[in-house]
Amino acid sequence: MIVVLRLGHRPTRDQRVTTHVALTARALGADEVWVSTPDPDLEKTIQSVVGRFGGKFKIKTGVDWRKAIKAWEGQVVHLTMYGESLSKALPTIKTKRLMIVVGAEKVPREVYDLADRNISVGNQPHSEVAALAIFLDRRGGGKKLEKGQKGRLVIVPNPRGKTVIDRSKEKTRRSPKQG
Ligand code: SAM
Repeated sequence: MIVVLRLGHRPTRDQRVTTHVALTARALGADEVWVSTPDPDLEKTIQSVVGRFGGKFKIKTGVDWRKAIKAWEGQVVHLTMYGESLSKALPTIKTKRLMIVVGAEKVPREVYDLADRNISVGNQPHSEVAALAIFLDRRGGGKKLEKGQKGRLVIVPNPRGKTVIDRSKEKTRRSPKQG
């Protein structure tokens, strides 16, 4: 069970980045994303992707982050550029129940203390989406990306155009060649 906890989401400013956090979590094998601020539109967007592309990924918004971290039965890893190095820390994280915390602008000091581990994905500032993607990819041994979700829509890798199979209609839609 892997839950990604997204802190500091501001619906007016962070809609796109938080959507990307959630989609990245789903695509790389997490089970749920929890967002600290209520945002029904964000929930609808993610549920719509799950409806089309499959899987059991869940989203919850309006989650009290302090309570959620304290109540978590498993390990809590906070991703921050100030933390210990990913390559050294990763082999020591053996739990199956993992909460991964990512921030937005400023993460409260308390999070650093409540987390079991503060882990950096390199010590340069970049993005919560990049940090999450690299963490999940490395933890999954690079295999999670290739795992299909068997949803209604299936994308078939295509070196030039787009091939999307709609399994409910059992027909293939092809777009014009790109490039
Ligand atoms: N001062 C922040 C920090 O502690 O990493 C940078 C803010 S950044 C805009 C938003 C989020 O991206 C951070 O809260 C953290 O979760 C993630 N992040 C950015 N750079 C990272 C890095 N090098 N390693 C791990 N996480 C990072």
